[in-house]
Amino acid sequence: MEVLKHDIVILGSGLAGMRAALQAAKASDGKLSIALVSKLHAMRSHSVSAEGGISGVLYPGQDNDSVALHGYDTAKGSDFLGDQDAIEILINHAPEEIKLFDHLGVPWNRDQKGKVTLRAFGGMSVPRTVFAADKTGFFMLNTLYDNLLSFPSVKIYHEHIATKLLIKDNKFNGIIAIDMATGELRAITGSSGIIATGGFARTYGFTTTAYSSTGDGIALAYNEGLSLKDMEFVQFHPTGLIPSGILITEAARGEGAYLLNSRGERFMSNYVKKMMELAPRDIVSRSMVTEIEAGRGLTDKRYGDLEFLHLDMRHLGEAKIDERLPMIKEISMKMIGLDPAHDLIPVRPVAHFTMGGINTNIDGNVLSRTGKPVSGLWAAGECGCVSVHGSNRLGSNSLSQCVIWGKITGNLAAQNAAKKKALDNAFINKSLSGEDEKIGLMLSAEGTNPYEIRRALWRTMDEHVGAYREAKSLMQAQKKIADLMKKYKRVAVMDKSMVYNTNLRDTIEIGNMLNLASVVVECALNRKESRGAHARREYPVRNDKQWMKHTVAAKSGDKIKITYSPVKITKWKPEERKY
Ligand SMILES: Cc1cc2nc3c(=O)[nH]c(=O)nc-3n(C[C@H](O)[C@H](O)[C@H](O)COP(=O)(O)OP(=O)(O)OC[C@H]3O[C@@H](n4cnc5c(N)ncnc54)[C@H](O)[C@@H]3O)c2cc1C
Repeated sequence: MEVLKHDIVILGSGLAGMRAALQAAKASDGKLSIALVSKLHAMRSHSVSAEGGISGVLYPGQDNDSVALHGYDTAKGSDFLGDQDAIEILINHAPEEIKLFDHLGVPWNRDQKGKVTLRAFGGMSVPRTVFAADKTGFFMLNTLYDNLLSFPSVKIYHEHIATKLLIKDNKFNGIIAIDMATGELRAITGSSGIIATGGFARTYGFTTTAYSSTGDGIALAYNEGLSLKDMEFVQFHPTGLIPSGILITEAARGEGAYLLNSRGERFMSNYVKKMMELAPRDIVSRSMVTEIEAGRGLTDKRYGDLEFLHLDMRHLGEAKIDERLPMIKEISMKMIGLDPAHDLIPVRPVAHFTMGGINTNIDGNVLSRTGKPVSGLWAAGECGCVSVHGSNRLGSNSLSQCVIWGKITGNLAAQNAAKKKALDNAFINKSLSGEDEKIGLMLSAEGTNPYEIRRALWRTMDEHVGAYREAKSLMQAQKKIADLMKKYKRVAVMDKSMVYNTNLRDTIEIGNMLNLASVVVECALNRKESRGAHARREYPVRNDKQWMKHTVAAKSGDKIKITYSPVKITKWKPEERKY
């Protein structure tokens, strides 16, 4: 066990974490030491798989676009649960971030004259998504990583999984992490911390997300009694490839692909006349579920039991697919042997993104259960709920959110760390011993196989907490998760070794996922209306009078305590959502 001292600890090296590190390094002019901690090699962070692009109004006036229209689309897309003061920050800062990444080295797609190309995305009135083929995340993350390597003040801890946040008297002191290479437990300390650990859609079995998207940072915050916000809102993306769930980017529909049912009908015209397949994801996903429930889905034994619909890209032609969607072609061919230029692609709605997360104020400052900002602690990216997406995120708005709040929190963390506040060393050492004991107990326990628990959790979430929800089914989920949590108390880590103990890592992640799944279900049961991604069959309409408020959940003993906070409305008055 050792204590590694830094000024700033950034937990997570996806787009949000790396952008925060770059900002903190620049803002402190190399004078503050920054730890960037990732449970994976930093470049394997899930952001690397972002496909379709980043939103921002690069050319006001083109197609009558404006920053205000981006704001309206985002507020409407959020089903008026997004905090509009935060949305204003998103739309105003997105263009400068896109330009910054251009200067840093991202090869945005351009036309013959060198002008950056824009593509259409769901719920956006006009094309305003900037992209690098269908590998936007890969290029952005690579570029950030390259740039970060030129800052000696940034120390990257690859493959260190955090197990605890060190918070005492509402003040951040650091984290505790296991070095995967050696199994050694380390406290990594600093007076500023940024949690940037991504979302938790891996609580589902059928998901577009990596095995690593287990919401650890959110669960660690919850364990420390901090508050979570809007956890009931989980986004289902319309086009998960059958049977793996790998994403077929919305950019495919943005480029002109459309959806067909078993009769070969372009069924979206029956649901959303104007925007059709480019309506927001919540609406397209629910339309697809309705088609399948009406018996107009397809099955194919080669792909297992899941029913699906078809995505038709054939009319786009080989040349366009090769230029704009090369990864989609590669994925389809490698995973199921189908070429989108010639074949129909089988897809169905899939768990993709989590709108809820750690409750923060507009600066990304993490809030305690009483709503007080935790001194020295911020959250950025998908794990933080500053609430720009409200109850439903529009595609391509996440990358903008990650880099903008990466920058904001990086600056604030640097300002705070420059004050060189003293840390509580006795508390740090005591916590390190406590954590060592806890992990020792996990390694010595005999009992349930963790992967049995994980499989059961995935089945439960897939079956009961989907694009449509109802009380009876949610209550079944609640009971099943509670049983799994009991089993988890006797979970057995089979591998007892120290070096790259992925069995231990998985077991820790499963514990985190169980906690978060229980919060999702509790909050979903509690919200008795349909809004954005949360569609209750018994309460099919949005109810602004009673429910235009954020759900705030915090741990209270063994229970989950739910309170509410108001939604900030600035420029865009709530209206019925029509597309
Ligand atoms: C397939 C796919 C495609 C997408 N495409 C787009 C798109 O085109 N446009 C768009 O706007 N959005 C897109 N999204 C959403 C977007 O990619 C994510 O919301 C975003 O990349 C999240 O970035 P992040 O920095 O918050 O976290 P991540 O990139 O998920 O990074 C999380 C980091 O935290 C670390 N971490 C987690 N737990 C721990 C722990 N316990 N200890 C230490 N480290 C830990 C991980 O190692 C990693 O470094 C897509 C999502 C998916 C799944």
